[in-house]
Amino acid sequence: MNGSHAWSSAPAVRSTHDRVANENDALVRFEQVKKSYDGINFVVKDLNLAVRRGEFLTMLGPSGSGKTTTLMMLGGFERPTLGSILLDGKPVERLPPERRNIGFVFQNYALFPHMTVAENVAFPLRYRGIKGRQATERVRQALGRVSLEALEDRRPSQLSGGQQQRVALARALVFEPSLVLMDEPLGALDKQLRERMQIEIKQLQTALGITMVYVTHDQGEALTMSDRIAVFHDGRIQQLADSETLYNRPQNRFVAEFIGENNTVPCTYAGRELEGAQVRVADGTLLRTSNAPASQASGELTLSIRPESLGLAADTLRPDVNRITGTVREVFFLGDHMRLCVEAFGGQKLTARIPARQARHFEPGEQVALECHVDECRLLEG
Ligand code: ADP
Ligand code: MG
Repeated sequence: MNGSHAWSSAPAVRSTHDRVANENDALVRFEQVKKSYDGINFVVKDLNLAVRRGEFLTMLGPSGSGKTTTLMMLGGFERPTLGSILLDGKPVERLPPERRNIGFVFQNYALFPHMTVAENVAFPLRYRGIKGRQATERVRQALGRVSLEALEDRRPSQLSGGQQQRVALARALVFEPSLVLMDEPLGALDKQLRERMQIEIKQLQTALGITMVYVTHDQGEALTMSDRIAVFHDGRIQQLADSETLYNRPQNRFVAEFIGENNTVPCTYAGRELEGAQVRVADGTLLRTSNAPASQASGELTLSIRPESLGLAADTLRPDVNRITGTVREVFFLGDHMRLCVEAFGGQKLTARIPARQARHFEPGEQVALECHVDECRLLEG
């Protein structure tokens, strides 16, 4: 099908983000939200965030960074100390949870053990005064979405972890909320099941077109599922971007180290160069970077290079490539790739991830020449 119309001058190529509305039409808006539990310390410091309609937005960060508090404020279980939260353009600080039309899946799915699967799923309907045939039909439909129709008479204790998780999901969807919040819903599952559920949840969210705000401390989970990720640290959003941008263009050192593996090399600014810069590392070596520091910083900067960006040097020297020579310290064979730990710049440890088809035999103590494309050498501040 060709989507071009005579009156439309829109480009034919649409990004995946066209599926979701832009920020001017946000479903959720946090405006200068601050939260303190004790009246002294703010655990959410100054939150400004717009969640677009139809978007899968993940709040990712270490334990204690303020993710659950933020979700609880959106859900109506905690009040912001300062600032406001808008849902569909209207302030909701004073609305109780059941009047916000938001579905929840909590950290521990909190199914009622004495109720059957169907009764658990029907619970939010009862709460909202939906009864009889209409309720039965909605429960059946919600269970159908998570492929659990056959188990509606069981009790939670008779279900596997994955099935319990699906019941919690059905319960969150049964009243057809426009917004669903999930707080580490897959934490209790083993790795394989977790990865399958990640895909199932994402597919369901896309199919139903619901807006999702999802909390996790697992970066892999966030990268897999999200349209955008808000990286939390110490009560603040460090960066809000899609997975690729976060991984390839982290804004600061925290984001670079929290997402994916990273070699960080202390350096100082040595001069501007095209869009990038030249930096000097410990032993005086000059390296080129893809970006320049925001300010003409004179202090310590950090150069960031992903292990997969460090390859074995080619025979010919190219201008768009940094060459780094060092001494092999450790070698690990991992099937599809080899990890080389190399000491360079007079004492700095670097890890290189060499694809198996390019690898050869390495001996600890031998000299090795590595290279990294200038585009993949990022300068970080902070
Ligand atoms: P996360 O979900 O990112 O782990 P939380 O929002 O749960 O972070 O916690 C942020 C900070 O607020 C932590 O220091 C935590 O101890 C504190 N905190 C969370 N809930 C409460 C509460 N109900 N009362 C007091 N302090 C709390
Ligand atoms: Mg939490």
